[in-house]
Amino acid sequence: TYVVTDNCIACKYTDCVEVCPVDCFYEGENMLVIHPDECIDCGVCEPECPADAIRPDTEPDMESWVELNRKYAEVWPVIVTKKDPLPEATDLDGQPGKLATHFS
Ligand code: SF4
Repeated sequence: TYVVTDNCIACKYTDCVEVCPVDCFYEGENMLVIHPDECIDCGVCEPECPADAIRPDTEPDMESWVELNRKYAEVWPVIVTKKDPLPEATDLDGQPGKLATHFS
């Protein structure tokens, strides 16, 4: 599966949602997540993210992100249409550790 990781937080570019063939992106206040059980691993969303926040779970240390994505995909609404990024997206793109500082 692919999952959304730290750099989406407080940026929330939504280019990814329009290309997903199975509509498995879900939207929180300041982050998107992918439902790991619905993702068909096609990979088309990965290059669409301007913040490079979408990663395959085959990369190291992805377990906690898979769990976070699953947890919130179960409760947040699906998103299929692109919208404006958050106001601080440009400033906060690339800032490390946003899960601790900017996730809500
Ligand atoms: Fe959707 Fe494919 Fe991205 Fe999975 S890898 S979230 S199926 S676009």
